[in-house]
Amino acid sequence: MASNLVQAMNNISLENEEGGREINDDVHNQPFNANLFVVGRFINKGRVNFEAMQHTLAILWKPGKGVSIKELDSNLYLFQFYHEIDVKRVMEGCPWSFNRKALVMSRLKQGQNPRYVDLNTMDLWVQIRDLKVGFMSETVLKGIGNYVGNYVRSCPSNFTGVWREYMRIRVSIDLAKPLKRRMKIKMAGDAWFWINFKYENVPSFCFICGIVGHSERFCSQLFEKAESEIVKPYGEWMRAPLRRQVKPIGAKWLRNGESGSKYAADLQIQSKRNEDDESNQDSEKIGLYKEVLMDSADITETKMADENSGNSSISKNVYGASTHGSARLSL
Ligand SMILES: [Zn+2]
Repeated sequence: MASNLVQAMNNISLENEEGGREINDDVHNQPFNANLFVVGRFINKGRVNFEAMQHTLAILWKPGKGVSIKELDSNLYLFQFYHEIDVKRVMEGCPWSFNRKALVMSRLKQGQNPRYVDLNTMDLWVQIRDLKVGFMSETVLKGIGNYVGNYVRSCPSNFTGVWREYMRIRVSIDLAKPLKRRMKIKMAGDAWFWINFKYENVPSFCFICGIVGHSERFCSQLFEKAESEIVKPYGEWMRAPLRRQVKPIGAKWLRNGESGSKYAADLQIQSKRNEDDESNQDSEKIGLYKEVLMDSADITETKMADENSGNSSISKNVYGASTHGSARLSL
């Protein structure tokens, strides 16, 4: 298909700078299918062995119709698939990583130049913990998702009858912003309570600034603050524990809603979870920042306050880390 594009480009006649150009309309009708292309970059710094990366990803993805990978630029790759099923499966399985480097991927749209694709977001499954029963609705989940990032969709198993310890939502995370740790929520007339977020298969993130893609050893804050002022409000506890992969023998008959094939992709994701990141080994539950107020009576995107712009009148310290005061609220 790429060769079709090249062929089409050859049909365009170009004159000198002053002259005009005539573009054959066929160029727009060519069979080049941008939907089968994905652009990607690694968010972690460091060199990537292109040859090894190609093979590793191909093994992880196992695309039924194959994949071609091209290095467009330094840390910019074009993945060409040959069937919609393969693209979909790979995109559903994001984030992928190679050699402990997380890959940000985006599907190419028709007419889009792969060199200018926005690669600053990453879709993740987020577990919403400690949500009260009365709040378990799609509307609430959507509102929460749009607070965490951009809500993509809800897990089909969220409302399948059996009791769920947590709700799962797919959220597009802005890689320039810190991961959200929790959020305050209430029903009109009721008391506030906290819900906590755990991220499935999240690549390494910084315990100091909460941003995905670097560890605390490489945080810019180290150069901006005195060592005594450095705190780590984020930690390993924000990682969702691995979901069990080996099913006990009775699973076949247990109607627990998790034995279906829809979980196969998740299990695969878990198996490639980035386990390294020495800096993420210490899981300090310290530091509290200005927390967020959300009036659940109006759970909409616009009503979701950002962690950084929350109401300072509420400063309850749920984690008991009162030694870390409001001086660091601006993170
Ligand atoms: Zn950082």
